[in-house]
Amino acid sequence: MTSQTSLMQSAAFNWINGEPAPTQEHLECRNPATGRLITPLARGQASDVDAAVRAAQAAGPAWGARSFEERADILDRIADGIEANLDVLAAIESQDQGKPVSLAKRIDIPRAVANFRFFAGAVRHQELPSHRMADALNFTTRSPVGVCGLITPWNLPLYLLTWKLAPALAMGNTVVAKPSELSPLSAAALAVICKQAGLPDGVFNLVHGLGPEAGQAIVGHPDIKLISFTGGTATGVHVAGTAAPMFKKLSLELGGKNATLVFADADLDKAVDGAVRAAFTNQGEICLCGSRVLVERSIYPEFERRFVEQVKGLKMGDPADPNTDVGALNSLPHRDKVAGYVDLAREEGAQILCGGEVPELGPGLEGGAFYAPTVLAGLSTSSRCATEEIFGPVVTLHPFETEEEAVEAANGTRYGLSASLWTTDLNRAHRVSAQLQVGMVWVNTWLKRDLRTPFGGTKDSGVGREGGRWSLEFYSESKNICIQL
Ligand code: NAP
Repeated sequence: MTSQTSLMQSAAFNWINGEPAPTQEHLECRNPATGRLITPLARGQASDVDAAVRAAQAAGPAWGARSFEERADILDRIADGIEANLDVLAAIESQDQGKPVSLAKRIDIPRAVANFRFFAGAVRHQELPSHRMADALNFTTRSPVGVCGLITPWNLPLYLLTWKLAPALAMGNTVVAKPSELSPLSAAALAVICKQAGLPDGVFNLVHGLGPEAGQAIVGHPDIKLISFTGGTATGVHVAGTAAPMFKKLSLELGGKNATLVFADADLDKAVDGAVRAAFTNQGEICLCGSRVLVERSIYPEFERRFVEQVKGLKMGDPADPNTDVGALNSLPHRDKVAGYVDLAREEGAQILCGGEVPELGPGLEGGAFYAPTVLAGLSTSSRCATEEIFGPVVTLHPFETEEEAVEAANGTRYGLSASLWTTDLNRAHRVSAQLQVGMVWVNTWLKRDLRTPFGGTKDSGVGREGGRWSLEFYSESKNICIQL
């Protein structure tokens, strides 16, 4: 176990070639629930990215030459290291991001452990294809791509970084990563844990800083051969515009505006519970959150009453309090953006069924980026609040008459990430799932993840899939060898 303070303070440096690397300038890393300064944060520049790439290139041949089993053993040791520091990492993630510490303990950190264990197992057990011809044998190998650039957002910091890092390392690549400057602390802690677990120096490098500086330098670096980016759609356009002409391998996991569809034949208790969880987990700051709830009109009044009652019961407050359900948003500017959408909804004639305000939470939290869980009704399904990504604790409710109308409304945004569907009619579940223009559908559940399955979106929610064999393929170069018999 390493001390929480020393892990947090490690973000004042980049991490290059297995050791802290100083920068000339610093940013500030603040706790969004209190506004208090946690630590100075390294402000990496293009020269730092270049140094990280050189370290990654130097480490590449030896790491890539190790067997899958050897690399998997190190991944398992990293998982053990994260698990041993679970409470410390959960506290760091909560202070840095604003999420309830209970959520970080239950979801974020265990998932980081699972990501390393899963991809360790995946490469140990992977099967590579071979194709026999009458007079020849084809077999396909997978080799490392080279130096991978991993860029991650602020909402699920360690969860999403490890989702990329584990398969990239497992397939023999070396990495230069940049976490969001708004929640970089768990990434800095991970670098220390990786070293303690025996990951060779230079295999995992971390450059902190701003997107347009350090992030852009990674995307545009000629010796970084692969970019895996998770973040907003507007940034994704920029990343693709830089990386695509350089023929980099590219995965883009972008924004979402996901529908929850509730049919009259649904188990109402489970549907209300699932819809509330889908809307407000992590303050609504998950790309998969169900921020538009479409409800069949015959059950709409009852659904609305029970939904609002349950939302009013959510406990918003200090993320460090183990009983808190909804913590702080990630920053004051983001809180203001969320509040701006609720102002817009008011102008568009919405009814505010609950929330719609900055709450007063008492001593110590006055400077925090809190916004009360908000339920809006009476808006058109094509209104801005019902189609644009708000990415906060704000949900719109809409009645519908027919299945066709529900599907049309669900598909009526530029995004296509996920949907959840609540019905006890199996035929309807199949029929509606097939028509939804998204990468992932949950039926009678939400955010149930099997790491073997493809993860990603359609339309403006991204390009490509990660997860299971899709990650192993993305983080490697396939080569076919054809032998004349
Ligand atoms: P963002 O502003 O797009 O930032 C994402 C990352 O990109 C950050 O590390 C950011 O750095 C960096 N960045 C910004 N400009 C860049 C540039 N020009 N070149 C390279 N990197 C750059 O997104 P966010 O606000 O952090 O995250 C919220 C968004 O992520 C939402 O839209 C959400 O839906 C999406 N998301 C999608 C998924 C998914 O799997 N589809 C999962 C989670 C989140 P700085 O922050 O340091 O400036």
